[in-house]
Amino acid sequence: MKSYPHHFAKLVESLEKLPSIGRKSAMRLAYFLAYEDKFSALQIAHSIETCVQELRTCESCNGISEGHYCEICLDENRDNGELCIVANPRDIFLIEEGGEFNGKYFVIKDIETLNLKALEQKIIQEKIVEVIFALSPSLGSDSLILFLEDKLTHLGLQFSKIAQGVPTGVSLENIDQLSLLRALQSRIKV
Ligand SMILES: [Zn+2]
Repeated sequence: MKSYPHHFAKLVESLEKLPSIGRKSAMRLAYFLAYEDKFSALQIAHSIETCVQELRTCESCNGISEGHYCEICLDENRDNGELCIVANPRDIFLIEEGGEFNGKYFVIKDIETLNLKALEQKIIQEKIVEVIFALSPSLGSDSLILFLEDKLTHLGLQFSKIAQGVPTGVSLENIDQLSLLRALQSRIKV
């Protein structure tokens, strides 16, 4: 990009690295931020810096939080006995956007990194009666469900998983909000 101002070219390059941003969008965003709305640009820059510094992993659910524990784990009104298992912290945000789920969450990336003791502790502490697997269908998630059903059987829980609308191998992120909500509402016993 020899014909562009140096800093502008660098900004375009940086924006291009973001998920789902192509060259054209990067140019449009860079122009907007650097030239059209400098105030918003500085606000965004500040927000990004603060988030990068402040966000960490919740010690109870492995979700995203600003302190030791996230807002959801600290919320005493979310005590309906449901625990939603997701594969990724951002899946919590996706389900929260729907505004229908009023239980707690627990993030399990895979069986290898799972802290079973911590999960058991959370189930007991939060008086969980139903564990809902909100995982995109795959062999990996099927074996995780079987593994946990086996390991947690002594706690007398009900297990279910999100139902229709979630195609095999597709990340929850790529499912529209309505389908995700329906899948959560019409969950099936496992
Ligand atoms: Zn948490």
